[in-house]
Amino acid sequence: YGSGEAPTVGGRTSAEAFARAQAVIPGGVNSPVRAFGAVGGTPPFVASGSGPYLTDVDGREYVDLVGSWGPALLGHAHPQVVEAVQAAAARGLGFGAPTVAEVELVDEIRSRVPAAEMVRLVSTGTEATMTALRLARAHTGRDLVVKFAGCYHGHVDALLASAGSGVATLALPDSAGVSAAVAAETIVVPYNDVEALEQVFATHGERIAAVITEAAPANMGVVPPGPGFNAELRRLTVEHGALLIQDEVLTGFRVGYSGWWGLEGLREGWAADLYTFGKVIGGGLPVAAVGGRRDVMRRLAPLGPVYQAGTLSGNPVATAAGLATLRLADSSVYARIDQAAGVLRTELSRALATEGVPHSVQWAGSLFSAMFGPAAADEGVRDYAAVQATESWRYAALHRSLLEAGVYAPPSPFEAWFVSAAHDDAALDRVLQAFPDAARAAAA
Ligand code: PLP
Repeated sequence: YGSGEAPTVGGRTSAEAFARAQAVIPGGVNSPVRAFGAVGGTPPFVASGSGPYLTDVDGREYVDLVGSWGPALLGHAHPQVVEAVQAAAARGLGFGAPTVAEVELVDEIRSRVPAAEMVRLVSTGTEATMTALRLARAHTGRDLVVKFAGCYHGHVDALLASAGSGVATLALPDSAGVSAAVAAETIVVPYNDVEALEQVFATHGERIAAVITEAAPANMGVVPPGPGFNAELRRLTVEHGALLIQDEVLTGFRVGYSGWWGLEGLREGWAADLYTFGKVIGGGLPVAAVGGRRDVMRRLAPLGPVYQAGTLSGNPVATAAGLATLRLADSSVYARIDQAAGVLRTELSRALATEGVPHSVQWAGSLFSAMFGPAAADEGVRDYAAVQATESWRYAALHRSLLEAGVYAPPSPFEAWFVSAAHDDAALDRVLQAFPDAARAAAA
């Protein structure tokens, strides 16, 4: 799109745009999953989004079940969010100086998750988890970090490690370019396996700074924590003097008013030491956060010795989008999302069963994803080894069929499906009508 003109509906095609992008951007995309590598075909190049719909540059409209990978809680271009962004932009795009809206956004987060006693705003979830690890190491004076296989916490070097199955292993890097020394400071444990974690603490307890976990994993497909699993993490970390970091970048203020903590920790009466948030708190613009215990957070510069900073941190336009989104996200928003997700989950499962496709539609709050194969169908999927044993190849055909019918599902079997409060009955009906053919494609 030469001289800065906006891509117009009916103008250049996604195929042309993708070819051009591949020549100048690695893979043609600025985040790998967007390239459709797992499902094949050309990714639609998006021209605009409105409510539950996306329109691509070819002029095709889709019901969007990706929702910007989480932020679009209210649907795309919600008028009040757009208005807040426009008003903030008109006052200036960024100052690198404090603004009142940052305090308001932090107060909104704290009112929903009181254990986030102090909060530092950053721009991406990756920065949030990276800072949480640095804080945990500084606070405990220890160097090792425990993560769970299949949990994603952004592209932090130390967290790009996910060793194979079996009992905990000192990790090898999962990405080229991560040094063995960094990877060796991360211990990877199978998800939902308390015994494996107990063993790791028995062996390395004195050196473990933190256990970091997705509050409810949704980056290996959705694999909900077993009953009491997160509470066990809390118990073991307290027992061994390590911090518990609950990564709620994805679940935070998406699965409920107080995030996953509101569905579990609140009821069970416990909280983590540190939380990371992202996605929804930026309403589609780059805002993320790390928050938690005051004594830990006070170690951050300029109060303490842990350095962390950002030119764009607390950017006023991004902050305005997040604040407007959270202020609109009342309990009725979550009730609608839960209901819509429940309908989609049930009907997807019904369509797959009708076609005889062995499957498990896994879910955690309003997040869900389909996993295929007899083992998944019989027992559900509880950890990453089980995810890897699923018939994930079935997903490509299902995805392609949905896309042809105007439904934009996640372009990977290992991602959650996202529903927004803007998914009204008309949008849901379009998805439901596409399920029978999609299930037939998955059966082939
Ligand atoms: N943590 C979780 C649980 C996530 O789902 C993600 C992104 O998908 C991240 C961290 C990283 O966030 P970002 O992509 O904003 O760096």
